[in-house]
Amino acid sequence: MSVLENIKEFKILLNKTDCRLVAVSKTKPVGLIKEAYEAGQLDFGENKVQELREKPGQLSADIRWHMIGHLQTNKVKYIAPFIYLIHAVDSLKLLTEINKQALKNERIINCLLQIHIAQEEHKFGFDESGLVELLSSQEFISLQNIKVAGLMGMATYTEDHDQIRSEFRKLKKLFDEIKGTYSASNLEMQEISMGMSDDYRIAIEEGSTMIRVGSKIFGPRIYH
Ligand SMILES: *Cc1c(COP(=O)(O)O)cnc(C)c1O
Repeated sequence: MSVLENIKEFKILLNKTDCRLVAVSKTKPVGLIKEAYEAGQLDFGENKVQELREKPGQLSADIRWHMIGHLQTNKVKYIAPFIYLIHAVDSLKLLTEINKQALKNERIINCLLQIHIAQEEHKFGFDESGLVELLSSQEFISLQNIKVAGLMGMATYTEDHDQIRSEFRKLKKLFDEIKGTYSASNLEMQEISMGMSDDYRIAIEEGSTMIRVGSKIFGPRIYH
């Protein structure tokens, strides 16, 4: 199937749901992004700052660029002028730097806090107590050029659908708790970014508002 057909299929799937598609175009050429854009896709996700520095200038200005990967503090400045949403914020230090760069650019940058929901050790993110500590801190409340718009998580890489479902359910529950408990001018809990090519159906059933889908749209990635 072509990129165009894949985008159309996702449109049909997500029609009448509260979930939107972030098309993950990492490693893929701008030609394929154009194809998706022409099918009506406006949200694109990248996980490398380098690609976010190269691609937008070659593409339509109304594309919403999402940074979905692990972001290093010293690279925030490169994407701060234009980034639409940063999905994987995993420390107060990073949030503070995003705030600083957003201020320089006279904008408010939307962020999602990454929550560690998987069993794997290596995945980034806050655990529940780390999240509570962050949201209760004066440092967080004082950051006026960021907005925390929700949470993001990645399930364990496994064939076990029950396990994936229970991890997504955990993220949704935490989202609801935070939404019902915390209030701050820079906190507006709306988005749950969860679900990728192999598990987006489960994620939608469990309350995802943003699925991040790459290979299912653009084909398998080849890393050199
Ligand atoms: C690559 C990536 C995706 C998309 O992965 P696919 O399995 O190709 O859909 C989603 N989220 C993050 C954080 C990624 O790095």
